[in-house]
Amino acid sequence: MSESPKPKVATVWLGGCAGCHMSFLDIDERILDLAKLVEFSKSPITDIKELPDVDVSLVEGAVCNEENVEVLKQYRERSKFLIALGDCAVFGNLPAMRNMFTLQECLEEAFLNTESTPNGLIPTGEDLPRLLPKVLPVPHVVKVDYSLPGCPPDAEAIWFLLTNLLEGKVPQPTEIPYNVFKFD
Ligand code: SF4
Repeated sequence: MSESPKPKVATVWLGGCAGCHMSFLDIDERILDLAKLVEFSKSPITDIKELPDVDVSLVEGAVCNEENVEVLKQYRERSKFLIALGDCAVFGNLPAMRNMFTLQECLEEAFLNTESTPNGLIPTGEDLPRLLPKVLPVPHVVKVDYSLPGCPPDAEAIWFLLTNLLEGKVPQPTEIPYNVFKFD
């Protein structure tokens, strides 16, 4: 673990719906116990701008644009253990449904061919993240130490994996209790 007196945990969501983060909050009051044991680093709910070296990162969502790629590589570089959290991160899931079509077809359908945007334009601003031609699962971009499937994963499974890693154990996937390990 890092030299910090408390292990550091960081979280991030890429292309996803935040449901995996919400599932994590389902550990209820144990999050208060966890907060005493760890330092929550950069995450969507903290105001930390730069990601320091951390012990465990929870990465939710699939890789949909170039900004996601850069963020993910940074998390990989700075994390001792990186967990792909949820079906979108593990295999693409919902965001990857657009892979059945070309990116151009998706953009035309979203911005040009709908009645709600009769005079629509496909946004092209320089400040917009550039979409990847295909949505990628996290393990296709960086090495992943643990994959935790589920849409969202069960809070108990997240708790099991996270607390084991923070205790310095190297849990095997088969050790996660069967009743909380799910594929959706
Ligand atoms: Fe949302 Fe499910 Fe994807 Fe998690 S796995 S980000 S809950 S769609």
